This record gives sequence, C-alpha cells and structure tokens, in this order.
Amino acid sequence: MARINDNFVKLPESYLFSTIARKVKEYKEANPQANVISLGIGDVTLPICKAVTAAMHEAVDRQAAKETFHGYGPEQGYAFLREAIAKGDYADRGIDIAADEIFISDGAKSDLGNIGDIFAADAVVAVTDPVYPVYVDTNVMAGRAGECVGGVWSRIEYLPCTEANDFVPALPAKVPSLIYLCYPNNPTGTTLTRSQLAKWVDYARRNGCVILYDSAYERYITEEDVPHSIYEIPGAKEVSIEFRSFSKTAGFTGLRCGYTVVPAALKCPDSKGNPVELRKLWNRRQTTKFNGASYIIQCGAAAVYTPEGSVQVRESVDYYMRNARRLSEGVAKAGLKVFGGKNAPYVWVKTPDGVTSWEFFEKLLHECNLVCTPGSGFGPAGEGYVRLTAFNTEENTLEAVRRIERLDLSK
Ligand code: PLP
Repeated sequence: MARINDNFVKLPESYLFSTIARKVKEYKEANPQANVISLGIGDVTLPICKAVTAAMHEAVDRQAAKETFHGYGPEQGYAFLREAIAKGDYADRGIDIAADEIFISDGAKSDLGNIGDIFAADAVVAVTDPVYPVYVDTNVMAGRAGECVGGVWSRIEYLPCTEANDFVPALPAKVPSLIYLCYPNNPTGTTLTRSQLAKWVDYARRNGCVILYDSAYERYITEEDVPHSIYEIPGAKEVSIEFRSFSKTAGFTGLRCGYTVVPAALKCPDSKGNPVELRKLWNRRQTTKFNGASYIIQCGAAAVYTPEGSVQVRESVDYYMRNARRLSEGVAKAGLKVFGGKNAPYVWVKTPDGVTSWEFFEKLLHECNLVCTPGSGFGPAGEGYVRLTAFNTEENTLEAVRRIERLDLSK
C-alpha cells in the first residue's frame, strides 16, 4: 500500500500570506472607499528592462529557425551564461570562480529547497531567526526538523537576530552541520560586514560545517564594507555554497532564473569519513532531476551582464532603493525604530512597546490603509516587528510615507 511522506503532514499550513490576504479582503469589503496600498508584497513591480527583452526576442526567433533551434540544453546551464556570471559577478569583483562551478537553475528557491538532497538525512540545521521560510520547511519535508512545539522545531537551531544583538546572529552554541545565512537579509534587510561574515567562515572551517549562503539581494548592497559574495572571505570556498537569483536583480520573478555556486574545493565526508566533492554530487542531482533552465530565459539573463543591461538593471534597483530610503525616513519620522533598507529592499520596523506584530499590522491597515507583513510570521524572533517592502511603485510608496508620517502612536 502506498504511504505518504509523514513529514508533509507535520508541516503546519502556511497561514501568513493567506491570513494577510483574508484580513485585507475583509477590510476592503467593509471600507470600499479605502485606497489600500500594499507594502507587504515581495514581488517586483517594474517591467523587464529593454536589453533583456531584446535578447529574449532574438532567442525566440532563433528557436523558430531550423539552423538555430535549441532543444534540451546542458542541465548545468549554457556556457555563455555561466561564463558571463563568472566574469560579471565574480572575476570583476576580484573573486576567482570558474564557470564550471556555477549551476544555472529556474530560480534560487528551487536550489535552496533541493540542496538538502546532497546532505545526510540526519544533518542538523541552523537558521537565523526571523528567516525566509523555505530553509525551514524544506528541512521539515526531509525529516531533519524534529517536532514542532509552539512554532519551533526541536532539531533546528534558531539563531535570533533582533535589535538586542544588532541583527548579528551569535555563533551556534551546539555545532550544526548546515548553516543557512541570507545577506542582505530577508526579512530584516540587515547585513553582515566582511569581518562579521569572516567569523562564520572561520567557525565553519573549524567545525566542519557547510554554510548555505543566500545572496538573492546582492545587487541592493550600497555600503562598502558589506560583502557581495561569501567568496570574498578567504577560505570560504572550502566551506560554502552560494545561491543567487535574477528575480530581484533584474525582475525575473515571472521569468525564473537563478544560479548556485558549488566550488570545486568544497568537500564533505561520507559516512566512512572519505571526502567527497560536493560539486560532483550537485551535478549528479541536477542532471538526474532537472533538465536545465529555458534557453530563451538564459539568453535574457546573459543580457544582464552586457553594458546596456547592467545600466538598465541598476536603474531598477536604484528605483526600489529610493523607495526603501523614503520608507525608512518616513517610519523614523513617525517615531518608530527602523532597521534594514540601506542594502536591501526590505525595511524592518520595530512595533511600539507591548504591541505585537499582528496588532501593529491591524493598526497600519485600519489607520493608514497600508499592508505590511507581521514579523512573527518569519519566526519567533520576528515578534514585535513588521516588514515593509520597497517593491511598490514610487507614487504608492510616497503616498504610504505620507500616511505613515501621520500615524498616531499615542493610541
Ligand atoms: N531567497 C530569498 C531570501 C528570497 O527572498 C527569495 C524570494 O523572495 C528567494 C530566495 C527566491 O528567489 P527566486 O525567485 O529566484 O526563486
């Protein structure tokens, strides 16, 4: 008799975004005049830039001719894109990553979810808290998380990131096998400096851990001392895998393209203690379960690295970062504490004393007609915060700021 993977049953329903949607719907029904603006969305609003769409149009035409048609491509991605990434994202920053250490995919979420396939079934996982939910949920599915008690998984090590520690997680007290780090961070928008990240690389090297480094928001970095890649840190190639996405970089949320770097130098022991190259395992995993990202989309992604493409992509990122700056300033003017927003499209707002994330969500919805995301939905240490995103239009963001500045915190 067929049986299911019980781990899926253990996984609680993800109520966060459905609850937000229901509350907003009810509010709009009761207040049809209200012009509700969402600062909760994690999706981009600007269209794909011209350099990328032109490259995709040309690729479509090539698919229409017998001489230039492309069928199945390499599972690892086309060399033209892997080489463009190796140069544009690494060599140009003084980092030595070879094209054959880069694996193209249909987005970072898939890779972050699938990477667990190549690690031991009983690997102990550490995550920063609050956290992008994919890291936790995919480990629950794989049976690594233990039991969920009060929203906390017994086998997962949570590393709180709050105002109290300046959003810099403490090194794990119990040594985990896998450490998920996301910088610039979703949801807090905060970053680690080079020396702070170097402590993690050093910790992983001393303890035999692998760092799974999600830098989906790398293009939003504005400050000098914030590393764009974990491989800027000496010795990181032996202990880390890096995940990147074209979604927030170039508006590919609907096109779907990302990549994962597994350096040749990264080795991990098997159960007998023999070191195994993780790149080989990831290659085996991908060639078995994935047939490569679309040719047309990869042509579009490669255009991000052309001179025109990089200027156009920068313009979009700058647009969102202007929104982030305005939001941060508006929130501070209203008398609230605000974090993030300098190197990320996310602004993390501390709720007034004694007000929960959901209570503040209601206040913003009812008094300002604004939608945020309650921080508690991202993990226990997110309680007492809400997340605002900079991905709405400039007009809506300016209007949102006007409303936030008028917010009455005395009631
Ligand atoms: N990593 C983080 C931290 C994200 O916030 C997101 C998307 O919101 C992703 C990965 C997923 O990116 P993709 O669209 O490439 O799957």
